[in-house]
Amino acid sequence: MAKEDDEQEYLFKIVVIGDSAVGKSNLLSRFARDEFDLHSKATVGVEFQTQVMEVDGKEVKAQVWDTAGQERFRAVTSAYYRGAVGALIVYDISRRTTFDSVKRWLEELNTHCDTTVARMLVGNKCDLENIRDVSIDDGKSVAEEEGLFFIETSALDSTNVIASFEIVIREIYNNISRKVL
Ligand code: GDP
Ligand code: MG
Repeated sequence: MAKEDDEQEYLFKIVVIGDSAVGKSNLLSRFARDEFDLHSKATVGVEFQTQVMEVDGKEVKAQVWDTAGQERFRAVTSAYYRGAVGALIVYDISRRTTFDSVKRWLEELNTHCDTTVARMLVGNKCDLENIRDVSIDDGKSVAEEEGLFFIETSALDSTNVIASFEIVIREIYNNISRKVL
């Protein structure tokens, strides 16, 4: 059984950023409800959701923050980024403009967080293959240029959603372990 709140050995703040309507909130609720099956708080309208998972036998609590619409007005505040150790930068594979915005989101992330933040580029809505507007290769090459992990997901059919968070959480954990050593 999972430990009670506050008993986890690690608490990781992860931010989800990207243009409006790319599927950030849906990715989050998929993650918070899905098959980690430890405690989750899938509340609507709050700033973050939490999920507990195990990494190397240690309980890790991921606190994943949602912009909750502020991104529409380019008004994501510094408080949102404060203390983040991981970031998912999300675009919609069926809308090129959201992919073009990735660099701007990275710049914003870099003004608020240092380079040790674990970063994942996420091409969401991969179920929309028939109206794809960004190739997998385009996603991969930006990720390589910028030193990001890369994955395509679908919050709609659950493809890779858990995996995307898991990879980031594991990388954060590895970063910390390396620091300790
Ligand atoms: P946010 O503004 O980035 O938080 O985006 P939302 O999570 O609110 O999603 C915006 C719209 O995209 C909604 O209509 C969702 O139903 C839809 N959506 C989100 N994820 C997916 C996905 O993986 N596939 C498809 N086809 N639609 C999605
Ligand atoms: Mg949202």
